[in-house]
Amino acid sequence: MTIAYLSLGSNSGDRFKLIQQAVNFLDLCENISLVRSSSLYETEPWGLKEQNWFLNAAVEIKTGLSAQDLLVKCQNIEKTLGRNRDQEIRWGERPLDIDIIFFGDEIINSDILTIPHKYMHKRAFVLVPLLELVPDFVHPVYKKTISKLYDDLENVEEVFLYGTRSYE
Ligand code: ADP
Ligand code: MG
Repeated sequence: MTIAYLSLGSNSGDRFKLIQQAVNFLDLCENISLVRSSSLYETEPWGLKEQNWFLNAAVEIKTGLSAQDLLVKCQNIEKTLGRNRDQEIRWGERPLDIDIIFFGDEIINSDILTIPHKYMHKRAFVLVPLLELVPDFVHPVYKKTISKLYDDLENVEEVFLYGTRSYE
């Protein structure tokens, strides 16, 4: 069993419902169980600014899957909930994005998978929800805690707590 951290984001459609459904679908997958979830945050778009704000969250899961199989499950859930990669532009609008941030302390660099996630240390919308769950987790490549990565952010885009409604 591996403890993994996922980042979820949505900026089109019913964002709250999409994140809620994604988390439920994850927990329903054989070999994946939800352990904890962060609060929801409303965040400024990263990369392409002229689009809706996102809702973001981070979840801790426990899984018997490999990282590659977990990616396939995440992409299937994205697709089920309306994501169509063929019609998207990079960093543009999407009903749902699920990224694998950490997979235990594994380091993976393949064509389809980079773990820890390549941009996580530059993104407040990933670090802020993760800070709630694992502030002292040490990034296996940069050897810094989540708190330290957050303190070291150069560009901090806007991240606001989005109420206290539970989405689990
Ligand atoms: P992004 O999340 O960067 O906005 P996409 O969700 O469209 O972009 O993902 C693009 C590709 O990124 C996927 O096809 C997947 O193979 C790859 N990828 C590499 N590392 C990861 C990771 N840690 N989590 C999720 N996808 C990843
Ligand atoms: Mg993604």
